[in-house]
Amino acid sequence: MRKSTAAGLVAALTLSLLPAALPAPAEAAPQKVIYVQKLDMPSDWPVKSALRWLDVYTGKSTFRLVKRCPAKRDCVTVQTGKLSGRNVGWASPIRAKTGATHRTSIVVIDPAKAKRLRYSQADRKWLLVHEFGHVHALPHQRKRISVMHPDLPRPPMVLTPAERRHLARR
Ligand SMILES: [Zn+2]
Repeated sequence: MRKSTAAGLVAALTLSLLPAALPAPAEAAPQKVIYVQKLDMPSDWPVKSALRWLDVYTGKSTFRLVKRCPAKRDCVTVQTGKLSGRNVGWASPIRAKTGATHRTSIVVIDPAKAKRLRYSQADRKWLLVHEFGHVHALPHQRKRISVMHPDLPRPPMVLTPAERRHLARR
């Protein structure tokens, strides 16, 4: 047996204290965070509350709005653009970066068209919720009550039980 020095004793004590001092090693699977960064969104587009609405539905905190997505993490960029036809919002298919572990996608909003169509603050929020639903791989839904209906949703909006199950699995 080695004679324990004061430093050795402290080290041993620290080690024995470590498991209690640290949070228990992840019992639940680590939650996958999707980072969201705004590129040039006007301030009257409520990105944050749209993300929160979806998170409340999933019961998870999936989305994290940040100034800039950290490298090599799942990231959605929300930006403005000119969209064709009746589209006011659009979400790109989710792309897995080759050879990397993260996925990216883009949500484009056409603020000029929204203005022409007299979108209210609530309309802007539901449009964002809809586009972020696509980011979650939710397809369009024929039920008018669903926020995934292709036309501008009318509050109070819900997601159907099937959509909720889909989100809960993600
Ligand atoms: Zn859509």
